[in-house]
Amino acid sequence: MSFSATILTLYPDMFPGPLGMSLSGDALTRGVWSLEAKNIRDHGLGRHRTVDDTPAGGGPGMVIRCDVLASAIDANVPENDPRPKLLMSPRGKPLTQAYVRELAAGPGVVIVCGRFEGVDERVIEARGLQEVSIGDYVLSGGEMAAMIVLDSCVRLLPGVMGKEASGTEESFESNRLEYPHYTRPREWEGRPIPDVLLSGNHAMIERWRREESERITRERRPDLLTSERG
Ligand code: SAH
Repeated sequence: MSFSATILTLYPDMFPGPLGMSLSGDALTRGVWSLEAKNIRDHGLGRHRTVDDTPAGGGPGMVIRCDVLASAIDANVPENDPRPKLLMSPRGKPLTQAYVRELAAGPGVVIVCGRFEGVDERVIEARGLQEVSIGDYVLSGGEMAAMIVLDSCVRLLPGVMGKEASGTEESFESNRLEYPHYTRPREWEGRPIPDVLLSGNHAMIERWRREESERITRERRPDLLTSERG
């Protein structure tokens, strides 16, 4: 069984969007993963297919109704579906490369995309939604966040990236940021490629890359050197 993604959103036309191109798009065409985007509004109430209402207790904005979202989930996700049900949310568990690896190793994901002020708390509890955040900033909707979850998972699926190794040496895989890359021309605007990379000495190249990784990590993200997050 390939990795399958079901997205519940008010804007299904946003999908596959950028996921239909390049690495993830080719993998989608080849059936390495599958994607369906379902419209929450199909389960809206009344003639206007209403999905939201004003917040209990007052305050700005609108909240997606629990009954409407639950109907959308129940209509599209069987009770015994093994996939984790995620809710994109700035309050969620931070998305890290370790979390991405865990998701990519599983059967796929169901992703609920919030809009407006968010969703009624009760549906989060009642349907066991796991809240996931892509970072400490606020988007206007969960769709782009869902794409980021999917893009980061899909590139790890077997047969998606060219070389097996290209996934394991990257930033975050060992709590280090990646070393600098160079390619032809050998000299450009007076800037040469570092000699060691042209030396053919693989042990020296490896050492230089490891040292550069550590230097860059120390300078830019010292928090990575002391934390367990990956
Ligand atoms: N009122 C909410 C923000 C709502 S933003 C709050 O203060 O927490 C609208 C929707 O965008 C959210 O329901 C969520 O689905 C999505 N979203 C916004 N920021 C996000 C983030 N950093 N990570 C994941 N999803 C996010």
